[in-house]
Amino acid sequence: MAEDRLSKIVSLCRRRSFVFGGSEIYGGLSSIWDYGPLGARLKKRIKDIWWDTYVEKKEDILGLDSSIIMHEDVFKASGHLEGFTDSLVDCPKCKKRFRIDKLEKISENLYRCTECSSEIDSSKHKPRKFNLMLKTNVSATEDEPNFGYLRPETAQGIFTNFINVLNSTHKKLPFGIAQIGKAFRNEVTTGSFIFRMKEFEQMEIEYFVKPEDAARAYEYWVNERFDFYTSKLGIRKENLRLREHEKDELAHYAKSCTDIEYNFPFGWSELEGIANRGNFDLTEHARVSKKDHNYFNEATREKFIPYVIEPSAGVDRTFFAVISDAYHEEEVNGKTRVVLKLKPNLAANCAAVFPLLKNKPELVELAKKIFYDIKVKFPATYDDTGAIGKLYRRQDEIGTPLCITVDVESLTDNKVTIRDRDTMKQERISVEKILEYIEAKVK
Ligand SMILES: [Zn+2]
Repeated sequence: MAEDRLSKIVSLCRRRSFVFGGSEIYGGLSSIWDYGPLGARLKKRIKDIWWDTYVEKKEDILGLDSSIIMHEDVFKASGHLEGFTDSLVDCPKCKKRFRIDKLEKISENLYRCTECSSEIDSSKHKPRKFNLMLKTNVSATEDEPNFGYLRPETAQGIFTNFINVLNSTHKKLPFGIAQIGKAFRNEVTTGSFIFRMKEFEQMEIEYFVKPEDAARAYEYWVNERFDFYTSKLGIRKENLRLREHEKDELAHYAKSCTDIEYNFPFGWSELEGIANRGNFDLTEHARVSKKDHNYFNEATREKFIPYVIEPSAGVDRTFFAVISDAYHEEEVNGKTRVVLKLKPNLAANCAAVFPLLKNKPELVELAKKIFYDIKVKFPATYDDTGAIGKLYRRQDEIGTPLCITVDVESLTDNKVTIRDRDTMKQERISVEKILEYIEAKVK
């Protein structure tokens, strides 16, 4: 059933131009996906809401857009060069490569191959360390290589700009720096659909505080980020839960960490992590760069390295959660209706306009006029390429909250039929009231 639901969601995403396979005409690349016309819009809406909530509407958070390619020393300081590795083992029989911690352990040194069920003796076939970062040559010549890395998290761009931001904006603690951007991890374990990708996008805030305020700020961010998913993105509360990390699963730098998990079609998994990273990152960048990363508190004349709370969300996972949560199948007159019950402000189009008959020029003209008037204020679409029932189904599948139909009577009474996506109720309203009606729906 879960498998079934997942494949239905993947199929809808492809059919309705949300998500396509990356480099697909050449056979594709594992764990690389492209966003189609509707997917690009939904993804942008999610990012816009996040950015607006934290950067535009809060005075203590500043935005940043740092580069993807970073200096090797950044990752010496962050620990990624040494520690960001998987232990991989090759199956001697089928030659497939696996993360050893993902294999079934039979006994000491003996593992079972997931692919062909042969036994893998790890004392003979020794696991090898594999760094998950993508390395690239940033030198002008091939023969004198100079390596840079594609960042594995947007966070490092924030830490390496901490002094720049502090000195140029004169912000006082507490304050945050927020960034949305791509990050790259050469994952061997490939995930379900867009859950685990080699190229993905993050929305991260590094919120700098005095050490004594860290515990309180951490609590604040855990609650704030949980609420964001329900209030801003309309995800149902019963599909979200908090999971605090046990001490032994914490990353080496983290003092505490809580995951916000979503009930994905394949089970509960991490949507976002909120971590108290202490002063690990800034301390390490100060050590490796030999640049002073202290914050000077004028009131107390004290110098110290701030602590940081990091709410780190995945854009693609959020997209996946939003679509999964909105996906509904309903029985209508003995047929299955697929409907995306997206929060109206997330939908690609706020409204769709159809003429009931496309061979009546006066109807088409009025419908197009209504469409253009809406389009000035709200994203909308016009469609006359099918019978009305088919046009409704198409809009239901992409989550358009309102459909407006212009019929022969509209020409005399100046009214249209407006249909609600979720209730399928139809109402007759005058043309002058359309914009008001949409506004009330999507606000
Ligand atoms: Zn095998």
